[in-house]
Amino acid sequence: MSDECLFCRIVRGEIPADVVHEGELTLAFRDINPAAPTHVLVITKQHYTDVAALAVADPELAAQLLTVAADVAESEGVARSGWRLSFNVGADSGQLVPHVHAHVMGGRALGHPAG
Ligand code: 5GP
Ligand code: ZN
Repeated sequence: MSDECLFCRIVRGEIPADVVHEGELTLAFRDINPAAPTHVLVITKQHYTDVAALAVADPELAAQLLTVAADVAESEGVARSGWRLSFNVGADSGQLVPHVHAHVMGGRALGHPAG
């Protein structure tokens, strides 16, 4: 837990969020600035800077994050139409919030990430 981290503050309930899933170790909530009709962020409650740090520290939790992302895609109704799961890591990715989060996006044709 980090005092200042935005997503740790959401976990603690200090900042409101539109939560779509809460588990013992994970939380999923709608992105405040959605880039697609469905845009949900899936995070671990414990603070890790990014998915690389999570994968090294706790591979089982990293796998659980993927399962929750797939469950969210199902509950959001995009499992059949298709969806994207993305993680930003570090400066060149444009990562804004240094707390691991998976972007679950769908609900429209997203275009190919490689352009
Ligand atoms: P990143 O660029 O770090 O991969 O993505 C961070 C995401 O968090 C962005 O898509 C941004 O819109 C979202 N975000 C930033 N601040 C908040 C907030 O206070 N609440 C919610 N729900 N999302 C936020
Ligand atoms: Zn955090």
